[in-house]
Amino acid sequence: MTGKVYLVGAGPGAPDLLTLRAVEILERADVVFHDALVHPLALALAAHAEKFAVGKRCGRHSTAQKFINKRLVDAARKHKAVVRLKGGDPMLFGRAQEEIDALRKAGVEFEVVPGVTAALAASAEVGVSLTRRGMSRHVAFVTPRAGRGERENDWAASVLAADTAVIYMGAGLAGEIGSALITRGKVRTTPIVLVESASLPERRVLYGTLGDLPALALKAGDGPAVVILGEVLRAALRERAATPVEVVGAGLKRA
Ligand code: SAH
Repeated sequence: MTGKVYLVGAGPGAPDLLTLRAVEILERADVVFHDALVHPLALALAAHAEKFAVGKRCGRHSTAQKFINKRLVDAARKHKAVVRLKGGDPMLFGRAQEEIDALRKAGVEFEVVPGVTAALAASAEVGVSLTRRGMSRHVAFVTPRAGRGERENDWAASVLAADTAVIYMGAGLAGEIGSALITRGKVRTTPIVLVESASLPERRVLYGTLGDLPALALKAGDGPAVVILGEVLRAALRERAATPVEVVGAGLKRA
């Protein structure tokens, strides 16, 4: 028997940001391979499935990607519905392509279910659109983090070119990101916002300018975070000047 592998986006964290399609597939999953940060309530939807954490978190123990690929292929030979549940959207900074290539090569059928990516959850959290007429028509999603043995790419050039940029996986690199951008000519007063744990009760939104980035990063916790940069944030930053550190989430409940 050969089953099907579903690469499912779990969204930014809040389980009610899963798509209906994701829920339907999780409910009939036989086995789920999930990232470390996937919410327990999302996993609970896969009531009948065997569940395995295979995710990678920067600097922590990681299961080698090749091994994950092999487990997906092997599971599809034994089960009907195999889910690879990934944070955010699977197709963005999620190493989906390696898994898709392996599944294709093995002749295993697959389907991708999109999810809400961190950049969009963060923009929602801040209440500021990443695009704006007359101000921002060019949005870049970048990461400065290159995997081991991976070619360095010029992420800073993309940030400089874009009207609005969202930087993923920048945790621990705030100093380098700030100085790389300032050295390359981005002005220190460019508005930024650091959004940690978007969509979750513990979320935090920290406003500042590019020059403040290292200081803001020190105030953040150890949840996943993105940094948004751009003029679209100018008005929000001005409003928040008196309270640059804002804990939005504490005590705020969603039904
Ligand atoms: N595929 C995922 C990204 C995986 S890379 C997506 O589409 O969102 C992991 C990075 O995503 C983290 O280092 C962080 O930069 C970002 N991230 C994931 N969840 C987040 C959240 N709830 N709030 C803020 N950033 C988040």
